[in-house]
Amino acid sequence: MEVAVVTVGDELLSGDTENTNATWLCRRLHDRGASVRRVVTLPDDRREIAETVAEYRDRYDAVVVTGGLGPTHDDLTMEAVADAVGRPVEHSEAAVEYLASEGGYAREDLAAGTTDLPAGARVLHNEVGVAPGCVVDSVYVLPGVPAEMRGMFEQVAGEFTGQRRYRETVAVAEPESALVDRFAELRERFDVGLGSYPGEYVEARLEGTDADAVREAAAWLRERVDVVEE
Ligand code: ATP
Ligand code: MG
Repeated sequence: MEVAVVTVGDELLSGDTENTNATWLCRRLHDRGASVRRVVTLPDDRREIAETVAEYRDRYDAVVVTGGLGPTHDDLTMEAVADAVGRPVEHSEAAVEYLASEGGYAREDLAAGTTDLPAGARVLHNEVGVAPGCVVDSVYVLPGVPAEMRGMFEQVAGEFTGQRRYRETVAVAEPESALVDRFAELRERFDVGLGSYPGEYVEARLEGTDADAVREAAAWLRERVDVVEE
């Protein structure tokens, strides 16, 4: 399953807030076997969010959007997602009932707009905060507050599927430039993905859906490089 992650917020683009939601979602989706093909960060701009979500909804199996829920002036995500899927925004009675019964909120205390969702959307309850999320078509709309986002994602995590992937890492005490030929040969011999991540040493990361192929490729590489001593 191919997924796009769209994080919304001016504070992310100015560098004031670190985009931990994107990293967390990528890891969780990847762990589940889903393939994340895009991560973008957009300003609090209804049109830009709508255009991007519409494009990615066509292109990928699912789009996960975080940030910009709730009733304040800069919370435009629900309207934008509604635009993207060609539906109006409607007051969600299901969301109000949940907040009244489980959340302990009186109807009249809920700020106007808090429970507006794209028409026909499935409500996702916010077990940590107030603003509900939703699923509409293949678009998942989650809050920006990291703890709220994580709690809500776990409610739908099972809907993101893919083939299980296996991974082996080899820590190499050689400069990356010296490894080019061996990496090329490994990629010819084995049907596995290979990532090379330089730092204090080079971490070669082998990954694939065939556990034997990944193990054999890692063993092949370990025999041909200076492996970092543990
Ligand atoms: P609320 O319902 O509280 O209004 P929201 O869905 O509207 O939440 P935002 O207003 O976009 O979310 O952001 C709420 C908080 O979460 C802000 O402090 C923001 O910096 C933080 N936040 C938003 N997006 C991210 C992100 N991608 N990574 C980390 N933190 C984020
Ligand atoms: Mg907000």
